[in-house]
Amino acid sequence: MLQTIEKLNYDHGKWDCPGFPKEELRPEYFGDQQSIRASMQTETEQVAFIACSDHHNSVACVSGIPFERMIIIQTLCATLNTLKDVQSNCGLDIYLESEPIRHLIICGHQHCGFMKHWLGQNRMKRPDAEDVTSAVEAYTKLQLSLAATSPRINRHLRDGSMQLHGWVVDDATAQISIFNPATMSFKPQNSDSAE
Ligand SMILES: [Zn+2]
Repeated sequence: MLQTIEKLNYDHGKWDCPGFPKEELRPEYFGDQQSIRASMQTETEQVAFIACSDHHNSVACVSGIPFERMIIIQTLCATLNTLKDVQSNCGLDIYLESEPIRHLIICGHQHCGFMKHWLGQNRMKRPDAEDVTSAVEAYTKLQLSLAATSPRINRHLRDGSMQLHGWVVDDATAQISIFNPATMSFKPQNSDSAE
């Protein structure tokens, strides 16, 4: 069903996506929580929020972003379509042409039922919570790299008119872990004084 999920690979106790264009996850493409808050002070800047179809735990509420400023698109595992298939990039392209989208958030979630099912059917007999989280983080990273290399999104990232964000939410606590392109890993928000 999802071709990109086949790219997940388990190695040394964690999931990764070998071969994905990591070098395209350039730190200058990414925004932070402060830059989102600054956008909310403007009158027009919007947030495109790509989340998982079964992420029903107040998916948009965890963000703290006003609903009227969000374009929420839910797809299985927060999947963007393949980078070559930009015409059907989960509808995002339509908005890219018409709305001042300042932030593109790709939001996975730790208790993803679809990911758990896929791991159980294809790669692991009994994936535990840690396996699912690791796979969701790897998959969210893959979606970020697909976004960064999608020509129509990349244009906005390069000219600085749009910023990328990678989140993985703990469904139980609504704690957001944020992707850090410098370390290529996710770290819980507010886990250090920098945020
Ligand atoms: Zn899910």
